[in-house]
Amino acid sequence: MATTAFSTVSGPGSGDLPPLTPDEILRYSRHLIIPDVALSGQRKLKRSRVLLIGAGGLGSPLALYLAAAGVGHLGLVDFDVVDFTNLQRQVLHGTKDVGRPKLDSAADRIRDINPNVHLERYETRLTSENALEIMRGYDVVVDGTDNFPTRYLTNDACVLLGVPNVYGSIYRFEGQASVFATENGPCYRCLFREPPPPGLVPSCAEGGVLGVLPGLIGTIQATEAIKLILGIGQTLIGRLLLVDALGMSFRTVRLKKDPSCPACGTREIRELIDYEEFCGVPQAAADAARDAEFETTPREVAARLRSGAPIELIDVREPHEWEIARIDGARLIPLASFMDALPTLDSAREIVVYCKVGARSARAVRQLRAAGFKRVKNLAGGIQRWSEDVDPTIPRY
Ligand SMILES: [Zn+2]
Repeated sequence: MATTAFSTVSGPGSGDLPPLTPDEILRYSRHLIIPDVALSGQRKLKRSRVLLIGAGGLGSPLALYLAAAGVGHLGLVDFDVVDFTNLQRQVLHGTKDVGRPKLDSAADRIRDINPNVHLERYETRLTSENALEIMRGYDVVVDGTDNFPTRYLTNDACVLLGVPNVYGSIYRFEGQASVFATENGPCYRCLFREPPPPGLVPSCAEGGVLGVLPGLIGTIQATEAIKLILGIGQTLIGRLLLVDALGMSFRTVRLKKDPSCPACGTREIRELIDYEEFCGVPQAAADAARDAEFETTPREVAARLRSGAPIELIDVREPHEWEIARIDGARLIPLASFMDALPTLDSAREIVVYCKVGARSARAVRQLRAAGFKRVKNLAGGIQRWSEDVDPTIPRY
């Protein structure tokens, strides 16, 4: 197949490429016999510098495959610790790594896969203050994050530095991928000028994700990163790949560079802004602080129930969550149908509302208060904290 030449990742001529050792020639032999990669392509990979933002679901296949492929210099940004609930999809980490910093676990695994890779560790949250400094000097940045502030921050920093941003996102059975911030291609802001209001788009922690999906999308991102480095094939520049794992369909939609885009069009964004503010995070925190006024703890509620207080416990989670775990004596009214069920509730009675961790139930409490209910409280920490503080036989999920 013919290759399309384009200059996305520029670098010195092949004369400046590092040589391969005999061990490396053996290790990469399946690359070297592909004419489109060959010795010069492998030397390009060895010279390349790729920065991964996040060592989680997407970061796992990215780190594994880019290291195995022989990317010479891998940067990894993450400040998280391996948690039990990560293991269903974050295959970079193992059961023995639970409780360890993800960067420690990732470093061990990457060293085992390919000791030739130089790993640069950034054990920090990516912020407006450090992003340019961290990203500068990399050939490709790969975004493996799951939150809007970091996604916009990564995009804007890549546009400012002129570094391609390999984007991916996942939710339940669906994923997306593209390549943003190249010289002539669109950026993430061309597609989504503004972030959605906080809380509108559920995260994987709230809505769940099929374990193989980050494997699928992260592997696509790794493929794009390698093509950018080698300068071969047709990348996802100007196209958004939409993956539906349930229907097993892959389709792409064309993306145009938006001349009025404040990042890559008008270039009015000349420096990194406060992305938490931009994405409404402080407002969401202020709302949470206000909600705290109407909170009660699992220990308090359990003690009052034991003393015979006539408390009505309302569970606003989904039926499939109710099936996993519930508190004895509670009544299930999923949040979506909550307003319809209001007439069935007694406003004179003491009501305690709970969900998984307390966010959805805070919304329900707000609705009840607006409807004139005075004796209503939110169970802080939800059924998770009930399991931790009151009844450990209730499974956590
Ligand atoms: Zn743009």
